Amino acid sequence: MRNTEIATRRQGAIARGVGMMTQLYVDRAENAEVWDVEGNRYIDFAAGIAVVNTGHRHPKVMAAVAAQLERFTHTCHQVLPYENYISLAERLNAAVPGDFDKRTVFVTTGAEAVENAVKIARAATGRQAVIAFGGAFHGRTFMGMSLTGKVEPYKAGFGTMMPDVYHVPFPVEPHGVTVDDSLKALRQLFKSDLAPERVAAMIIEPVQGEGGFYAAPAELMREIRALCDAHGIVMIADEVQTGFARTGRLFAMEHHDVVADITTMAKGLAGGLPLAAVTGKAEIMDAANPGGLGGTYGGNPLGIAAAHAVLDVIEEEGLCARAEQLGSRLRQRLESLRADTPRIVDVRGQGFMVAVEFNTPDGSAPDAAFTARVRAEAEKRKLILLTCGVYGNVVRFLAPITIDEETFAEGLDILEEAIRAAGEDA
Ligand code: PMP
Repeated sequence: MRNTEIATRRQGAIARGVGMMTQLYVDRAENAEVWDVEGNRYIDFAAGIAVVNTGHRHPKVMAAVAAQLERFTHTCHQVLPYENYISLAERLNAAVPGDFDKRTVFVTTGAEAVENAVKIARAATGRQAVIAFGGAFHGRTFMGMSLTGKVEPYKAGFGTMMPDVYHVPFPVEPHGVTVDDSLKALRQLFKSDLAPERVAAMIIEPVQGEGGFYAAPAELMREIRALCDAHGIVMIADEVQTGFARTGRLFAMEHHDVVADITTMAKGLAGGLPLAAVTGKAEIMDAANPGGLGGTYGGNPLGIAAAHAVLDVIEEEGLCARAEQLGSRLRQRLESLRADTPRIVDVRGQGFMVAVEFNTPDGSAPDAAFTARVRAEAEKRKLILLTCGVYGNVVRFLAPITIDEETFAEGLDILEEAIRAAGEDA
């Protein structure tokens, strides 16, 4: 089978709205390597968008799923419950930042986790409004896309968004937006449009993912916590992309000295199986009535079994520390290219959630075309990269944290070649 043949069939079979970054059809994958149907081997610096933090087919995760497959695959927890769902909730209740009694609900996708977090916050407060940030990404369901702070391609053409959703600017230093600007906008919102007593929740990604890998400054997080406390607003940390060792901590909120009331999780939680979770303060989480939360597949046994193994692997293999080491080496390598690549305007990251941002050579404007060339040149050389950012001018790095030394070094060399080659084409 050839990639191009399947790509042609794809066009006739799949809705256009499903985006695609490559037309490489996967045959198999192992840790940080992927082979396509033509037998080409690629280094994977995408990890299924921050999902296989523990690598493709980690032996422990595979063994846990295989063992679960031998027992049962689905009963629906609301019909016939199973113990490992409870023990995983206990583990998350203990691990999620916040020194308070917690409860958890399992769902299937990140968007669904966000939906449920907002439902719970509304039930707990009896209020409607939700505040999110410009550039945020929270999913493609109606509330998820309403909260998402980017019109194209996520909201365009999809009609009326959910009512009572407000956005304030997220502080992004390279774009000249300060914490003060964000807080001013928030105060202005409270003054001109929205009484704080009407706000059920504020939702924030500790590091904006799709929006461009911008970490929320500590001061912003503290101010949000203070505002939420002052007005009885539920603070939601969306850790769907930042979770599970990616930033050098199990959760990115561990970089902050305040905690959220509710945390949403998905992606890295189950090492490649679809599982998501909402964990939060017991009294908030318990506000929703029985039957109000859940879903047929929520907390599917295979995902639950995988997640237990993922948490074991993160601990046993010291993946938080490893994320710090790998991330710092990647940042150093990118920094070393700055001298002769003036297009690099920023290199940043927490742990192994690293990004490089490109502007036009004079530094004046985002350079999405150059960024796309870097991605394409890397793909030619068999390295899979992801782009992101409101202006499409950021390459983000999300390789498995279990990547071996040799593959990582090879990936870094290809990255450097790709950046240089993209410059030559200009
Ligand atoms: N929140 C964040 C922060 C995300 O990065 C994503 C996915 N990129 C989502 C929510 C939505 O997750 P899913 O695609 O699993 O619905």
